[in-house]
Amino acid sequence: MNAKESLMTWSAKDRDTYLAELSEKTYDVLIVGGGITGAGMLRALGLRGISTALIEKDDFGFGTSSKSTRLAHGGVRYIINGEFSLVSEACHERDWLRGALPNLVRPVPIVMINHNAIGSLAFGMYLRFYDLLSGWNNYKNYTHLSLADCKEAEPQVSIPGTHSASRIYECIINDARLTLEIAKEGVMTGGTAVNYLEAKRIITKNGRATGVEAVDRLTGDSLVISAKNVVNACGPWTDDLMPEDSPKVIRPSKGVHIVVKRENIGNVGGLYVKNPADGRSIFVLAHGDFTYLGTTDTDYPGSLDDCYTEREEYEYLKMSVDSCFPDARFEETDILGTYAGVRPLVLDPTETTETKTSRRELVDEVSPGYFVITGGKLTIFRSMAEKLIEFMAKKGAFDIKKSDTKRSKNRFVLGLTPEEWAASITSKAFDEKTLAHLYQNYGVGGLSILDAVTADGSTGDAITTGQPNIQAELDYCLEHEMITRVKDFLLRRTNLSLHQRDDHETLGRETAKRMGASLGWDDARIKSEVAEYVDIAHKNSFFLGT
Ligand SMILES: Cc1cc2nc3c(=O)[nH]c(=O)nc-3n(C[C@H](O)[C@H](O)[C@H](O)COP(=O)(O)OP(=O)(O)OC[C@H]3O[C@@H](n4cnc5c(N)ncnc54)[C@H](O)[C@@H]3O)c2cc1C
Repeated sequence: MNAKESLMTWSAKDRDTYLAELSEKTYDVLIVGGGITGAGMLRALGLRGISTALIEKDDFGFGTSSKSTRLAHGGVRYIINGEFSLVSEACHERDWLRGALPNLVRPVPIVMINHNAIGSLAFGMYLRFYDLLSGWNNYKNYTHLSLADCKEAEPQVSIPGTHSASRIYECIINDARLTLEIAKEGVMTGGTAVNYLEAKRIITKNGRATGVEAVDRLTGDSLVISAKNVVNACGPWTDDLMPEDSPKVIRPSKGVHIVVKRENIGNVGGLYVKNPADGRSIFVLAHGDFTYLGTTDTDYPGSLDDCYTEREEYEYLKMSVDSCFPDARFEETDILGTYAGVRPLVLDPTETTETKTSRRELVDEVSPGYFVITGGKLTIFRSMAEKLIEFMAKKGAFDIKKSDTKRSKNRFVLGLTPEEWAASITSKAFDEKTLAHLYQNYGVGGLSILDAVTADGSTGDAITTGQPNIQAELDYCLEHEMITRVKDFLLRRTNLSLHQRDDHETLGRETAKRMGASLGWDDARIKSEVAEYVDIAHKNSFFLGT
């Protein structure tokens, strides 16, 4: 099969058909929660031929899975906490993912500064151990950088007392798009996945889960979805769907990120830099023309649905950047966008510090036929899914063949290597930046987007000036990526909202018009779509006083 033929239709235009299917069928497994954990389960179960549905109360990736540091990484700092098996697992998963979805998961160097010879030696040994835990499979092993090498690698970095530096490689990802591609591959295996459907209650019969009662958040209609097993993959919301008398599972921890133009900071790749006040490190990461700065890590008692960046969090990140990039132009008015997410850390009553709380996942049976999977990391979504599947099989949820474990290690059908992309593109009508953007974000889908432009040149027009996105992307997402609301496209399928400081009104309106023409929206719907999008875009930078 030609790569493009593997693209399936998955569109809000067919929502009624999907809803009818959800009401009529009895699934082997119903997953609640469309973050990376739920999407990973959908894909892994589908690859084993187990009939599966997934419902998400907002958009796929709406929760933590679009608010991360955007790294597939081993978690070098968890070695200090003695979490060797977690680090080793995460390194192996990172390296598998780099090969399985190479357009979306790409190596990035991370530089860390050393302040004296002994520190440099000790940290070098620590990082050799990190390479060992990855089975020496990382893109490149740790390297020691002399002061001169460090200056060459990151010329704008200037920290008093720098002795040398250490460099390792992790991988940058686009978290929301990764979640989406996993969900799409799950749907391609025969799974059903619908957004804006909220599970309100687990239904039981004779003490065993038999499905959920859900509400369609677009219409307010209720429906019952039947399944032999239900999985709670609600991330930070996990406790909301647990029995009333059960102890809390989640310790919510907030983390924010700020995005500026890369030229404002001057970093070349990635750095892990210390905040001078508390010694905690944050990432300074190059994503094309942009730099992402983050993150914070603080206990969060607030609303999970309305979580935004506060001024003091910006000031904390600014302090870290200013201490190592003295020439950075990083004022409030330089900020393009911010995002704030909540880590679903598994509650450990004995641990008092957020930063030290383990990133290990929890896999358990809540009651017969009702399972929970939470915690963990984006990076280990595949191995987390495999652990729950094996656990569920042991509990009699379904039969599995041990040999099928390997299937989730298959390459992504929708992924492409740079060589495959170069050999397949039919149109070079765009500049390098646009082509790189289409390749990196869409893989096989990028080829289909280019075909659309060949058929109708006007779809090659830019969506907004200064960003590489073109109109054909919106049409592609309408057809293949289940965008249901304007915010789905601007906040998650693309980075348009995050990479643009001003004029969200125009961006929202133009997107709503094009989506409305395809999905049959009236004026009132268009207006409310724009209003909701603009409200979120402004809250994402409300501390600017805009
Ligand atoms: C600041 C920050 C930085 C991070 N950086 C990294 C990183 O660089 N690399 C990494 O590997 N990990 C990172 N993580 C961790 C990683 O992002 C999370 O572990 C992961 O995204 C959790 O995914 P999830 O699917 O479990 O939760 P979520 O993504 O939150 O998904 C849960 C979903 O369930 C839905 N839901 C909730 N209740 C219901 C209901 N009743 N009905 C239907 N749907 C419901 C929600 O809307 C949500 O979309 C970071 C986390 C944070 C906060």
